Amino acid sequence: MSPSVLAVAEHRQGELRDASFELVTAGRELADDLGGDLHLAVIGGDTEGFAEELSLSGVDAIHTVAYGEEFNHDVYTQAVVTMAEELEPAVVLMPNTVNGLDYAPAVAERLSLPLVSDIVGVSYTDRFVTTREMYGSKVETTVEVGRESVALTIRDGEWEPTEEPGEPSVDEFDVEIDEDAIGSSVTGFEEVAGGDVDIADAEFLISVGRGIEEEENIALIEELVEATGATLSASRPIVDNEWLPKNRQVGQSGKSVTPTVYLAIGISGAVQHVAGMKGAETIIAINTDPNAPIFDLADYGIVGDLFEVVPALIEEFQ
Ligand SMILES: Cc1cc2nc3c(=O)[nH]c(=O)nc-3n(C[C@H](O)[C@H](O)[C@H](O)COP(=O)(O)OP(=O)(O)OC[C@H]3O[C@@H](n4cnc5c(N)ncnc54)[C@H](O)[C@@H]3O)c2cc1C
Repeated sequence: MSPSVLAVAEHRQGELRDASFELVTAGRELADDLGGDLHLAVIGGDTEGFAEELSLSGVDAIHTVAYGEEFNHDVYTQAVVTMAEELEPAVVLMPNTVNGLDYAPAVAERLSLPLVSDIVGVSYTDRFVTTREMYGSKVETTVEVGRESVALTIRDGEWEPTEEPGEPSVDEFDVEIDEDAIGSSVTGFEEVAGGDVDIADAEFLISVGRGIEEEENIALIEELVEATGATLSASRPIVDNEWLPKNRQVGQSGKSVTPTVYLAIGISGAVQHVAGMKGAETIIAINTDPNAPIFDLADYGIVGDLFEVVPALIEEFQ
């Protein structure tokens, strides 16, 4: 076992994703703790171009595997496992993205490594100490791993991306992908409808939840949005009902947002919703239920019926 870290870059539609640059920061910190090197795996797509972009400070070596254009579960699993078997890193570091979560468990299983997912912090002294969040990010937990090697997935947005250029070695990694073992393929890429608005960029979000009851009542919230100059977002049931498009969904399976103000109307504050909005600077909630979990998080709360409170707010802002 070498005291090194193997981090797996991520790209989509010809572009490296932010997660790749955050992995470099996290990977370097961990490699420093271990006293070893940071290796970066670049699999598929424009490997040469990606390797050039990822030639960043703190990266010791980049290994490319030119196979396919987009992410593929089996290709990534095979390539990462082969690389890890050869390099014998102490850590296999992957992003906690949709793709990362797809292949990380398979990699960990094949390498017989413990997997700690969705970590927001990690260090190594005589053992790996990782930090995870639980109960809708109300509690931070420490997970210690007493094994000499581990697989980790890191939550996006928790480490500053590395941007400073560096001079790592770049080589084409010799891995023969077993095509018979490829059981899935990417048939296309579909952008979420209504991609005009990015709620992640909004400073003031007004978010609507199931408390709104009917699709036609969304118009009331839209009136408030207009009166305040906010951006409209929603909890998942609203999107599942197709009352608003998917790009408006806040939460674990939607978007993570960090506005200055987040006004949650008729939203209970389920953990999967909270995961996406807990980073808001000021949280305000309107809910009829004084015991709704959203109030545990809110800076300001109005216990009341949205059908009374929202018209009053509209009048005030107009
Ligand atoms: C794998 C997985 C991923 C998920 N991902 C997400 C995600 O990304 N985003 C997400 O939001 N959810 C997600 N969920 C769903 C999540 O668990 C909750 O079901 C969802 O967040 C609840 O939405 P809500 O708060 O709008 O509805 P509810 O939980 O039904 O809450 C409605 C609230 O409105 C209040 N209310 C009712 N009437 C009024 C009124 N007249 N005035 C004021 N308040 C009123 C009620 O008191 C209640 O608190 C996910 C679930 C799973 C299993």
